[in-house]
Amino acid sequence: MTDTVIEREAAGPDVAAVETTDESPGTTPGAAAGGTQERRRAAISPSRAKDFLQCPLLFRFRAIDRLPEPPSQAAVKGSLVHSVLERLFDLPASGRTEEAAQGMLDPQWQELQQDRPDVTGMFTGPDELGAWLAEARSLLSQYFRMENPRRLEPAEREMLVETELASGILLRGFVDRMDVAPTGAVRVVDYKTGRSPHPSYQDNALFQMRFYALMLWRLHGTVPARLQLVFLGDGRILTHDPSEDELVAFERDLEALWRRMAEVARSGRFPHQPSRLCAWCSFQQFCPAFGGEPPELPADGVTHLLGVQAV
Ligand code: SF4
Repeated sequence: MTDTVIEREAAGPDVAAVETTDESPGTTPGAAAGGTQERRRAAISPSRAKDFLQCPLLFRFRAIDRLPEPPSQAAVKGSLVHSVLERLFDLPASGRTEEAAQGMLDPQWQELQQDRPDVTGMFTGPDELGAWLAEARSLLSQYFRMENPRRLEPAEREMLVETELASGILLRGFVDRMDVAPTGAVRVVDYKTGRSPHPSYQDNALFQMRFYALMLWRLHGTVPARLQLVFLGDGRILTHDPSEDELVAFERDLEALWRRMAEVARSGRFPHQPSRLCAWCSFQQFCPAFGGEPPELPADGVTHLLGVQAV
């Protein structure tokens, strides 16, 4: 029996559901396309695993072709709010006020624009930018209605976690926050700037958290006591206390998913899987479902992907 709880904390602004990426903070899929830097060994991340489950062709475009994607207002807002919440904990506990967090928003926005100049082109003008920044401020206010950061002392923030399973499959992800209680109990926390999912989609939302729990368990030998998703979009918190049996089953599911990914990659045929989520896909022009044609499959991209599993 697993323990999943969703708590109503407070009413919040109407923000469309969006997931922030578990790529390195501040990067977007395809950002390294055409670069000359040596690529790290390929690994499965929660985002790319979910991409494959949604549509193998979408996965191909992001993980193998590494096609660039234009920034989206929702995703960049998520990055901005995440960066403020991360830096908030640089301050001494007494200084972690809402006023301090709001004061970090503009400098963080400036920094984000310097790192990714393309984000400034997302807005039609100052009015749209102003409304967008106001939404980000509102999400920060919501955070303070849900948690009191002055009473928290995170053990880790924006933590890169990487582990190789016994099967040789490499997993990688970024954990927003890890809290460790005096008893040693671990809580993994992830902020979402979107709204909480309908109960029938909660399992989907927990996929990423189980992924982190499995990595931490395999790394440190202890199953995290609690997984916590903080939905700033509607002020709800989804918690789940995973069991060892559940993570064993999840590991088997991930291994089966990897076998499917490798099989598809070796065949070179990544099927498209249309759904309502196509509306948010940046690659419609390359997708047969929209009359497009995928570019030639890069052989080195396939070879790199197959390195996910050590031989
Ligand atoms: S438009 Fe839809 S079917 Fe085509 S690649 Fe994107 S998600 Fe897949």
